Amino acid sequence: MDDETFGVWRAGIGLLSSAQRGLAFHDLALAEANDPVEFLDAAIEDVGQGGSDAAQAEALAGASSGCAPDLLSQVGQDRIGRFGCPHCGGHDVGRWGRANALPRYRCKGCRKTFSPLTGTPLAGLRYRERWMDQAEALISGESVAKAAERCRIDPTTAFRWRHRFLSALNFDKPGSLSGIVEADETFVLESFKGKHRDLPRPPRKRGGKAGKRGLSNEQIPVIVARDRTGATLDAVLPRLDAHSIMAALGGAIAPATDFCCDGGTAITAFAREAKLKLHVLPAPGHPKPEAPELHINNVNAYHGRLKEWIRRFHGVATKNLPTYLSWRRTIEALGDRMKPEAWIMGAAAIGPYQQLTQI
Ligand SMILES: [Zn+2]
Repeated sequence: MDDETFGVWRAGIGLLSSAQRGLAFHDLALAEANDPVEFLDAAIEDVGQGGSDAAQAEALAGASSGCAPDLLSQVGQDRIGRFGCPHCGGHDVGRWGRANALPRYRCKGCRKTFSPLTGTPLAGLRYRERWMDQAEALISGESVAKAAERCRIDPTTAFRWRHRFLSALNFDKPGSLSGIVEADETFVLESFKGKHRDLPRPPRKRGGKAGKRGLSNEQIPVIVARDRTGATLDAVLPRLDAHSIMAALGGAIAPATDFCCDGGTAITAFAREAKLKLHVLPAPGHPKPEAPELHINNVNAYHGRLKEWIRRFHGVATKNLPTYLSWRRTIEALGDRMKPEAWIMGAAAIGPYQQLTQI
């Protein structure tokens, strides 16, 4: 079709009824699906079953430069396997050609089509070829300014990307902690309330004391609970009290666990209310001789790593603190599997804890 005829054809789109538009969508999708150039290998035809290890390895191997389509195909398969159709949750899903260099799928239940990124925070995000750079920036925990430089985007975009990439990880937490569970609260200094950047700025006074000029600096209570497999739950507490800790941990710690804490008022009240098998260890590093395995050294070491790591951001606004906790939790959970691909999967709600959380 020549450009002029195509222009007339497109101008007519505005006159179509919704039923006619539906038919046109259908025909366009069929035309796209039948395009021989876009035909894909058979390995990802069976999208309803989730990806095989071999397919995953292949996808990861192909993703070494830029965000390879294979990785996003893997994301699509995994998401369909876990969540089904993003529109209706149905699992009867088939391939439906390609669009924007991504595979497309069609749900046989609701008949809607979708891409691997539909319904994820990555949907609509531009410069896909730079996403691996963004993932590297998250691994190294670099500042917005450095991430912007690495990804060749402006700092405002870099800040937005950071939060887009991390938002799904806020839901990626272990469903339960078991065995010996250590829990303790810590405090993170809030800074620049109402601002959301860690862009370069004058350093805080020595000691991080509350400043003047109307800036609010508060110590924000954070609870961390960690079992001996390393599974970690964390939460910002609105108040340091038993009720807040119950809201943060209550459903995830079974009564049978050996719950170790320092005997603080709030956490002890929580443990009693939750009917946990409570072990009070008031002196970290000095467990009782008769039970050397009961201590809170691991959770306190986690606090240490968290606070050391978060210092680079020169203070975090309270509303963003859960995201930074998730960032740190993901770094810890990935451990040896720390690859950029894992962060892109995590951004698409396939994080290391593999929670079945549709976002
Ligand atoms: Zn559907």
